[in-house]
Amino acid sequence: MEQGISQDFSNANKAAEASHEAAQAANPLWERFKDATMERLETVERAVRSLLEANLDEETRREAEREAHKLAGSAAVFGFAKSSSIAREIELTLRSMSPAGPEQARRISEMASALRRELEGPPLAPPPPAAALTDDSPLLLIVDDDPELAQRLTMEAAAKGIRAVGAHALADARSFLSRERPDVVLLDLSFPEDQGSGFTFLKELVRGETPLPVMVLTASDTFLDRVEVARLGGRSFLPKSLPAAQILDHVCFFLAQRQLSEARILAVDDDPAILAALQGLLDSKGYLITTLEDPLRFWETLEEAAPDLLILDMDMPHISGVELCRTVRNDARWCMLPVLFLTANTDAAAVQRVFAAGADDFVGKPMIGPELMARVANRLERMQLYRSRADTDDLTGIANRRKSSEVLNNYLRLARRHGQPLSLALIDLDYFKQVNDRHGHAAGDVVLRRVGQVLKQSFRSEDIVTRWGGEEFVVGMYTMRRNDGVQRLADVLETFRTEEFKDSEGRPFHITFSSGVAQYPDDGADLHSLYLAADKALYSAKRFGRNRVIPSGWNPAGDEAGIVDVVLVDDDNTASDQILQALETRGYRAERFQDGQEALRKLGGSDPYLQTRVLLLDGDFSGAAGLADLFARNSRPMRTRVILYNSPSERREGPVPVEAGVFDYLTKPVSVPVLLQRIRRAFDA
Ligand code: GH3
Ligand code: MG
Ligand code: MG
Repeated sequence: MEQGISQDFSNANKAAEASHEAAQAANPLWERFKDATMERLETVERAVRSLLEANLDEETRREAEREAHKLAGSAAVFGFAKSSSIAREIELTLRSMSPAGPEQARRISEMASALRRELEGPPLAPPPPAAALTDDSPLLLIVDDDPELAQRLTMEAAAKGIRAVGAHALADARSFLSRERPDVVLLDLSFPEDQGSGFTFLKELVRGETPLPVMVLTASDTFLDRVEVARLGGRSFLPKSLPAAQILDHVCFFLAQRQLSEARILAVDDDPAILAALQGLLDSKGYLITTLEDPLRFWETLEEAAPDLLILDMDMPHISGVELCRTVRNDARWCMLPVLFLTANTDAAAVQRVFAAGADDFVGKPMIGPELMARVANRLERMQLYRSRADTDDLTGIANRRKSSEVLNNYLRLARRHGQPLSLALIDLDYFKQVNDRHGHAAGDVVLRRVGQVLKQSFRSEDIVTRWGGEEFVVGMYTMRRNDGVQRLADVLETFRTEEFKDSEGRPFHITFSSGVAQYPDDGADLHSLYLAADKALYSAKRFGRNRVIPSGWNPAGDEAGIVDVVLVDDDNTASDQILQALETRGYRAERFQDGQEALRKLGGSDPYLQTRVLLLDGDFSGAAGLADLFARNSRPMRTRVILYNSPSERREGPVPVEAGVFDYLTKPVSVPVLLQRIRRAFDA
């Protein structure tokens, strides 16, 4: 059934060897913790004796329950698989026994004897770990329907110290993956089974429960394929025409990069036996591990160890793991840190408590080495984006300027090669110094973090969102035009400014930002000139009243006295307030008249008091016909385009006929986005 799998080594042999090694490795650990463990057992036994004599006091019972809990958590690590379940049962019986009957006392005494027999015997070999987790050389899965190519790649891999496994059909690959977890997958996109199945499988691999790094190998090197692969999360795109040795060079480079960024792990548990076991397991995989027994020293250790992953025991004295996790989640610097819980209790309520506290995952006690390792690897893999601290802004967790410059330059090269546009938005918070002065620096930091979060959520995953420095952010949008960029930023601003912040004294406040948007290639061919163009637009946004987004090259009418972009003639306050605000957010200078006669006076005559590029006219208005007529004659000093909106029934035969020289008309009720689109069209005409 798995005839498609070719393997050059025997997995069975490796697994046997590994389990032998693991048994030996467990012994020194048992030597170290034997005495402490037997003391725990004695505490339990003392309680059992008191129980049999019917004089067990509450404190002794609780102490015995605690010790049984610890025995349950660590006994399996030393190679006493049965002991863990016995100890767990003792713990549960001790917990639920109030008041204990003679029957219960007899049963618990039997369990304690069984536990002693187990712990006095030799430790058993722990369950055999999966081969992939005990072998040190990396595992590569090659998914390719061309057996010859797979064979060549396998040989090249062996020469470079990589174990390679070839799967010639997707079904074989799936079945392999159900048993083993490779370090990296080399996937041929074009499978004869059906077109697109390669993409489907890629999606499965990178978006699944336990995402895998995938390098794509393909004969059809089209730009669309590349974009699709990147969009789906593939790591590299390798043409099949490359020599096998070079393909493996790419694989080696990828694996080396992963090793370079050695992950740091901080483990907190009040049980030194668990910590020692974790240390042994994680050390052997090349992780840098710091262990901590005293949760009261948590914060200083966290800052010092600066981990990439945190392992927390659920139940500890003084401060519980749940409380520690909440503190971590509330902290600006650490809120993104992956947290893995160790918990003896895996019933639904406990699991819910773990996730509610903000945990990413949990491992049940007694701890099983391979399971723990897989979960640790999985968490770190998901955090890969954030792993390299050099790429990430500490406060907000988004990319920093260094990282973003690198990505933007890559995008610019792509844009040049493929003739695509790229938009660059510069965002600066308004009056942010005042926020710090009035509400404190900490409240300022909260705002900055939130801006990072909102921007990250508001843009596509391929857009790059950066904290450029201080209170300035940059968003790079590949393939996006300036005006679409403005629209996106304006949407974000419209939501963001309604958000209420609270300072430490509970005083509410609001924040706005200003933004300038530039476009490649129109405003510049390199990052520096694009940045300058965006900055110039940002400066205009600040000057014209902040709280708005302005495209580069925009020459706001406000520069010239007596000229505006849009005049709105409408007596419906709610609707026109909305329209005016949407216009101003997008950089238009706008005026509103509620009275048609006044509008006629100001806009009419041969030397008008006010001129406008676009007139938005409510057709139901008294004086509307006069205004439309005025502009229809086209004898004004400046050309004005009229956009008229009428009630549905009056579209043609209303007070202002459509024919009277209007540029565009709409039917009520008018939707703001549609109106914005029509106004843009009027400007571009
Ligand atoms: P404008 O609308 O013209 O941009 O006014 P502004 O007050 O936002 O501009 P200004 O450049 O004068 O002030 C920027 C402020 O941003 C000053 C500085 O204290 C604050 N800031 C910069 N980085 C941080 C930070 O990491 N945290 C906090 N809380 N404030 C910061
Ligand atoms: Mg600033
Ligand atoms: Mg500012």
